Amino acid sequence: MSGKRDYYEVLGVDRKASDAELKKAFRSMARKYHPDKNPDDPEAEARFKEVQEAYAILSNPDERRKYDMFGHDRPGGSPWGAGGFQGVNISFDDIFGGGFDSIFSSLFGGGSRQRSNRGADLLVRHLVSFEDAFTGVDEELEIDVLNRCSGCEGSGSATADGVRVCPTCDGRGRLTRIERIGPFHQQVTQDCRACGGDGRIIQNPCKTCRGEGRAEQSKKVRFSVPAGVDSGTRLRLSGHGEAPRSENGRPGNLYIEIEVQSHEWFERDGPDLLMALPVSYVDLVLGNTIEIPHIDGSPLKVRIKAGSKPGETITILDRGLPMTRGGRGRGAVMVLLKLAMPGKVSRATKKQLEQMRAELGSGNAEVLDDILDEARDRRRS
Ligand SMILES: [Zn+2]
Ligand SMILES: [Zn+2]
Repeated sequence: MSGKRDYYEVLGVDRKASDAELKKAFRSMARKYHPDKNPDDPEAEARFKEVQEAYAILSNPDERRKYDMFGHDRPGGSPWGAGGFQGVNISFDDIFGGGFDSIFSSLFGGGSRQRSNRGADLLVRHLVSFEDAFTGVDEELEIDVLNRCSGCEGSGSATADGVRVCPTCDGRGRLTRIERIGPFHQQVTQDCRACGGDGRIIQNPCKTCRGEGRAEQSKKVRFSVPAGVDSGTRLRLSGHGEAPRSENGRPGNLYIEIEVQSHEWFERDGPDLLMALPVSYVDLVLGNTIEIPHIDGSPLKVRIKAGSKPGETITILDRGLPMTRGGRGRGAVMVLLKLAMPGKVSRATKKQLEQMRAELGSGNAEVLDDILDEARDRRRS
């Protein structure tokens, strides 16, 4: 890295310059050499890049210390990787406004702006049984994912020195040109055709991945499904997505979207479980306790009070699903009482029912009273 100008010299500042002085110098230099002000001027473009690089290093305290100690020949190589500094796309607004600090912090991995340097996120759907959603479960999945190629360690090249920076785009992978529309300038960015947007040209591609640097591999992922999970919940497994395109990027995330199988008789309402219980007229009139097997292992006891009506709901607290998202306890089971109509009735039962009708007196004589009573009750409630 000899022949490179001293960073302090590039910015025209003293070696003891303060942060404020550096910033001021950078702003005035960046304005002077900005490509918008110097269209089609390769000299200005080179200076602009130089100024950016110098400021990127000197405005970062760690990098500045290393530079002060070692100059351009610091151990561990260039902080920009094999391709060297590629420049950042900063607009005039960034120079005049406050936006450019965040651009530079992201160059050192501090920010979240390195979108293009991250592998793609993956989404996998996963079905769990209702019972497993109730208790929570540890699962293992086998997925096919683009991983860093093991044959070339992700470089895509069969030999260590077989990669060079794409001369067409200067390693950026993209080409930007300014289009003039009336009085306005618009930046148009396209993938570089020469390198397919990679920024690098591989002379002797790795045979395993054909130069991609990534290869599809099946891998096992383990994850825990939390108790009480509902359909549509997405679990995130950081770094288990696709490998990045470039060697120094980060892999994407793997999202697992949970789908809970439906239960034979329960419907879900968040942590609450809803069900309908058909009961006989006799159970409604006399009351009864009915036991139903339940997913938590102990039977659910539904106590029907004497004189219950169809359509009433019995709430059994704390027997629903576990609360998720830090909530405590469990939801409720809500039992809707329905009148079960008997199908075929035996002769003996028929006889008893006839007897009942006579006793309850639901004949034509009282029908109007019954109608009026019902209407009064209905309107009161
Ligand atoms: Zn490879
Ligand atoms: Zn290119």
